[in-house]
Amino acid sequence: MGYEYDDQNIFAKILRKEIPNDTVAENDHALAFRDISPKAPSHVLIIPKGKYVSFDDFAANASPEEITDFMRLCAEVTRLEGVALDSGNGFRAITNAGSDGVQEVPHFHVHIMGGRNMGPMLM
Ligand code: C5P
Repeated sequence: MGYEYDDQNIFAKILRKEIPNDTVAENDHALAFRDISPKAPSHVLIIPKGKYVSFDDFAANASPEEITDFMRLCAEVTRLEGVALDSGNGFRAITNAGSDGVQEVPHFHVHIMGGRNMGPMLM
């Protein structure tokens, strides 16, 4: 079974600049922008520019360059937001996948949240 990508999802529209976003940083293969409905003082979404539905799709099918750029942009965001462990108090990084993971937007993204104690992880 493949990963069917919906070109009409909201992050695809953000990448095509059809709708605005509050960009934090970007590189050749990834974009970071502020979540429109922040759940923490700092809440940034990192997305690949390629068409990947979910974490498992990206991990299995993205190129080494895409994966490296994605992870490096995550690191850059933690530094820019002052939550990286070498200079700040830390953060939570999560990704939701599919219906059981309660993924709202079917374009792979990682949430980086910090600026407060995030509390215990919900089980
Ligand atoms: O992981 P999940 O798919 O549930 O998260 C989607 C996230 O995208 C939500 O936190 C929502 O606030 C955010 N969002 C956004 N800008 C939009 C639509 C959704 O930042 N235009």
